[in-house]
Amino acid sequence: MARYTGAVCRNCRREGEKLFLKGERCYSDKCAFARRSYAPGQHGQGRKKASEYGIQLRTKQKAKRYYGVLESQFAKYFEMAERQQGITGENLLRILESRLDNIVYRAGYANSRKEARQLVLHRHFTVNGKTVNIPSYLVKAGDKVAVKTSDCEKIKLAIEANSARPKPVWMDVNEMTATINHLPERSEIDFEIEEHFIVELYSK
Ligand code: SF4
Repeated sequence: MARYTGAVCRNCRREGEKLFLKGERCYSDKCAFARRSYAPGQHGQGRKKASEYGIQLRTKQKAKRYYGVLESQFAKYFEMAERQQGITGENLLRILESRLDNIVYRAGYANSRKEARQLVLHRHFTVNGKTVNIPSYLVKAGDKVAVKTSDCEKIKLAIEANSARPKPVWMDVNEMTATINHLPERSEIDFEIEEHFIVELYSK
């Protein structure tokens, strides 16, 4: 299963904002973006005027990096979103939010989507009572995502660390189970992105 293995803080610096990819470190003064809020590389501090294409590309890259999805899978999600009724950009974000690794992170059972992905791969979660070890598994309204191994130290620490983090209104979260009440509307997704740029990019 392919995954991004590079330095994740570079991604925040490249996108020019904090994407919160590293859990607790993102909230500390060790955050690389807080210390160097310019793009990585030799020309990172140079002036740049983004073209229309550049803006569209950066928007797509930001979404990919935020959700930890690689290019080919992201393109498949876009095709799925196009086939659904409604606004394609919103459909795309809803699909990304439905990924099991995102649900685990949003519910506070992991400190980052990357950690959530690893915990899912290691069979620490069930969906409707069945173990699911596929981070890209898409949940549906009514599904129950539960912690299977309540003695996992990583999960216990994450639950403790994230107890004060607001949980999405579209799911009911208790200590060991997250119930998906409905898939989120755009207004319920707290990701600041202009997703219409992604639609414009793929529509070329
Ligand atoms: Fe991004 Fe977190 Fe790294 Fe800061 S610490 S640059 S928010 S991944």
